[in-house]
Amino acid sequence: MADESEQSPLPSDQSAVQRALIKWYEADHREYPWRETDDPYAILVSEVMSQQTQLDRVVSAWKDFLDEWPTIEALAAADRSAVVAFWSDHSLGYNNRAKYLHEAAQQVLEEFDGEFPRSPEELQSLMGVGPYTANAVASFAFNNGNAVVDTNVKRVLYRAFGVEDSDAAFEQAAADLMPTGKSRVWNNAIMELGGVACGKTPRCDEAGCPWREWCHAYQTGDFTAPDVPTQPSFEGSRRQFRGRVVRLLGEHDTMELDTLGHRIRVDYTPDGEHGREWLRGILSDLVDDGLVQIEEQGDRTIARLR
Ligand code: SF4
Repeated sequence: MADESEQSPLPSDQSAVQRALIKWYEADHREYPWRETDDPYAILVSEVMSQQTQLDRVVSAWKDFLDEWPTIEALAAADRSAVVAFWSDHSLGYNNRAKYLHEAAQQVLEEFDGEFPRSPEELQSLMGVGPYTANAVASFAFNNGNAVVDTNVKRVLYRAFGVEDSDAAFEQAAADLMPTGKSRVWNNAIMELGGVACGKTPRCDEAGCPWREWCHAYQTGDFTAPDVPTQPSFEGSRRQFRGRVVRLLGEHDTMELDTLGHRIRVDYTPDGEHGREWLRGILSDLVDDGLVQIEEQGDRTIARLR
């Protein structure tokens, strides 16, 4: 028998999981100006600024910085003291980051003949650029990165697929899950999922999480995660029933309304408070979210996953 630890925790229909997330991200996401560019210099500046500062506050500082030094050549030629002063004036955290950024600009000109390095490995040779930033620039500027693994991504992988809480397991699962050659959209999308849907307090239904039909946490109601050691408090009751409906429909091709009702709650009585009307409400939310389909067959109501 195969050792269970060697088996991938990821769902077998991985391409459906990938398509669902990319579609969700492309339909709607938070707009940040650095997401609209593939200029590696502008992206590096945004990454360095966001290491210590909230994204919403980074926007105006980033714009001002690029007004002042619009190209890597302009930054390399600037006075270091002016760059440091800019950093403190905009409350961007440690001034060393400004010094490193200035130094990195000079390195690109001197060591790379002005051609921005494109791989995570080469990018890491720039001053102040660690593995995370190097990978972000390689992904967002050149679509040439590896799968990002940060706390948000770990939380998502842990909840959705039950990935074991170890760095090696997260690295492996994140790498296996990323569609080949799509690091730009994929890393943006999975970080967006961790940021707006699968935060410490999850918003599975509200954010229309595209992974509900595969997600362990959604189906079991256990939303703890490595950085969320106790069950987060939220209005969880309807969500938990939605999760159970999705799990049962994933196990059965179709289910009749009352059979489903009896399976998801012990106090289900067709005409009672928690009966057909209540269950139709739960199902209709899932229909609106595009997860479930309902068919009326004579006097029977049949539900199935879409
Ligand atoms: S269904 Fe909820 S818990 Fe699961 S991945 Fe989506 S947001 Fe996270």
